[in-house]
Amino acid sequence: MEKKILKTNRFFKKIILSFILLFFSTALFAENDFIKSQIRQGELKLYFSSDIERVTYFSIPTKEGVTKYVYDIHGATLPLEKGISHHSFRNIESFKIGQNSSTKLRMVIQSKQKFKENHTFVGKVLTIPLIHEKNGNLQKSNEIRRSKKQYIVVIDAGHGGRDAGASKDDIKEKQVVLSVAKKLKKQLQRRGYMVYMTRDDDKFVNLPNRTEFANKKKANIFISIHANAAPTKQVANIFKGIEVYYLSPARTERAKKAAEKENAVMLEGKDFYIKNEYLSLLNREKIVESHKLGLDVRGNMLSNVRSAYNNVEDGGVKTANFWVLVGAQMPAILVETGYITHPQESQNLVESKYQYLLAKGIAQGIEHYLGNKHY
Ligand SMILES: [Zn+2]
Repeated sequence: MEKKILKTNRFFKKIILSFILLFFSTALFAENDFIKSQIRQGELKLYFSSDIERVTYFSIPTKEGVTKYVYDIHGATLPLEKGISHHSFRNIESFKIGQNSSTKLRMVIQSKQKFKENHTFVGKVLTIPLIHEKNGNLQKSNEIRRSKKQYIVVIDAGHGGRDAGASKDDIKEKQVVLSVAKKLKKQLQRRGYMVYMTRDDDKFVNLPNRTEFANKKKANIFISIHANAAPTKQVANIFKGIEVYYLSPARTERAKKAAEKENAVMLEGKDFYIKNEYLSLLNREKIVESHKLGLDVRGNMLSNVRSAYNNVEDGGVKTANFWVLVGAQMPAILVETGYITHPQESQNLVESKYQYLLAKGIAQGIEHYLGNKHY
């Protein structure tokens, strides 16, 4: 009897020991689980099972003046069947949370009002104060102007320097698009936006540097300006019109490779989305927003140019895989202002008036897209 007890004790000790080992081994690879969310005294708090490593933040404007405030919590995971509580808070349309990749949890706050961004994380808690930038009457025009200035547009005049782009006789794409870009800058500045240009003179700029510049400037919109060329001289009279392109899932091999690199991290852990139906991929969102921006820009460009020029063809808004758009973290489009190889269009393109109308149209499109067209 005594012997038996002793044996049982040993057996239990073994079990306990293995439990301790199991505990430590899982603790070593412990995932930082999201536990709960709470709003207290105007602050949103997210609680996790262990210390938060890193949080990155950015915002993205969508149509109708709604901004998405995005917080990526690195090293955190969303346990299945878990989500953010159904919060409701002044002027906030939604709170969403989702697994963005295997190593990143994404939280998105959607609001029509501007936030004073000031998140902090200490230990296991991420705190996001839900303070609006201003509470006063938003209809005051000076306030609207101020809030509009927060939108940053990066204009990218295509080509430059040793890269002339398309050309016909002595008309060069790099010159035409720089003129349009400069006029666009003026138009946007007059409307109160912050504007940066990837080049403002005849210099060569690498393609990846163009979007990288926009990302660094935390631009809300990236717009690349080009002029098109017919594939051969024989069809130069046929190819004409204004076209707008946005980046979408790649169809060609070349673009697929570029897109793969960009999308890899976004596509990880994709099944989480299907299971939890929380967040759409940012990339998908960016595609949708770029398309909307493209439609607004195209419509306004055409109506402006057609007010003074006949036979301006609508080439529509299309998807393409331009390298220059790959890597942009914001809604991004490429405008083909016309065919430099077309006899009539090349003449239009060098005219200051035509360039002005194009620029005005693009600016109106951007303004319409950003939903700030009321003052
Ligand atoms: Zn070009």
